Amino acid sequence: MKSGFISILGKPNVGKSSLMNALIGEKVSIVSPKAQTTRDRINGILTTDEYQMIFVDTPGVHKPKNRLGEYMEKCVRTSTDGVDAIVIVLDVTRKVTEADEAFIEKYLAGAAPVFVALNKVDESSYERVYPIIDKLSYLTRAEEGRNAVRDIIPTSAKKRKNIDVLKKCLADVLPEGPMYYPADEITDKSERYMIVEIIREKALILLNDEIPHGIGVEVRTMFFDEHGTAHMSVDIVAEKESHKSIIIGAGGEKLKMIAERARKDVENLIGHKVYMELFVKVRENWRNDALVMSDVGYDSKKG
Ligand code: GDP
Ligand code: MG
Repeated sequence: MKSGFISILGKPNVGKSSLMNALIGEKVSIVSPKAQTTRDRINGILTTDEYQMIFVDTPGVHKPKNRLGEYMEKCVRTSTDGVDAIVIVLDVTRKVTEADEAFIEKYLAGAAPVFVALNKVDESSYERVYPIIDKLSYLTRAEEGRNAVRDIIPTSAKKRKNIDVLKKCLADVLPEGPMYYPADEITDKSERYMIVEIIREKALILLNDEIPHGIGVEVRTMFFDEHGTAHMSVDIVAEKESHKSIIIGAGGEKLKMIAERARKDVENLIGHKVYMELFVKVRENWRNDALVMSDVGYDSKKG
């Protein structure tokens, strides 16, 4: 049996969470068109007869501006300690910069094998992807003080292009090891945590840029009735009164849409019918408040 931890790194919005979900074949981490939606570190688990891969999805690398930002950054720093492989994700629809190259080189100084995924090839062309491979090819040769990139793999998380190729590359470098998690587990996070993430995802997508990252989600109560239907009461925590009305929307339309979309995904997740009530509460400055942060699912002391 082979097993190991694989860190997925890269700038916000390049498709790290999408790639992890594609590798696992299930939606474990939330995906949104907005940067920095993955706030916490989340492990996704893929178990086959030959191996167990534990993917560590990280928040995008960025400069912290508040307590939540600091926590996110800490999650990234600790997520490459002692991992067995690293996948650095670049978005081929954007320019590959010197900073991207420096970022890759930094990890090549460590012991873990590094792979580069050139993601979103479905939105690009051979003419655009090839020069990027060419530009980065010097990194596939080892140099004094750094290892070589093991492979540069054009991928599409969305269209599932080369996902199996990437998986095979990773399987090849995995060390012998134990099963860290039961074979049927796909994430280290609790059901409640996943529910929070689903609701946050729907809210972020539906709210567009109206409320930049200013919401928390808290599952207040959850129980199953005699018919097996899950009843949950959930709070969306906003920073300001003005945000509250945006989240609720005219005639409560927006909140209804968030609840309806979230309900479907939560039903898929838990395999039960779901009855979901959403409330919006205002807690000023929740992102800088350690107590409220742990309340809405982020433990500022761990990581
Ligand atoms: P992260 O911030 O790096 O975790 O990125 P996400 O996985 O949240 O994805 C950011 C955005 O890019 C979302 O809108 C995704 O749907 C989109 N995306 C991710 N992978 C692909 C891909 O392979 N092709 C295309 N066209 N879009 C993608
Ligand atoms: Mg993400």
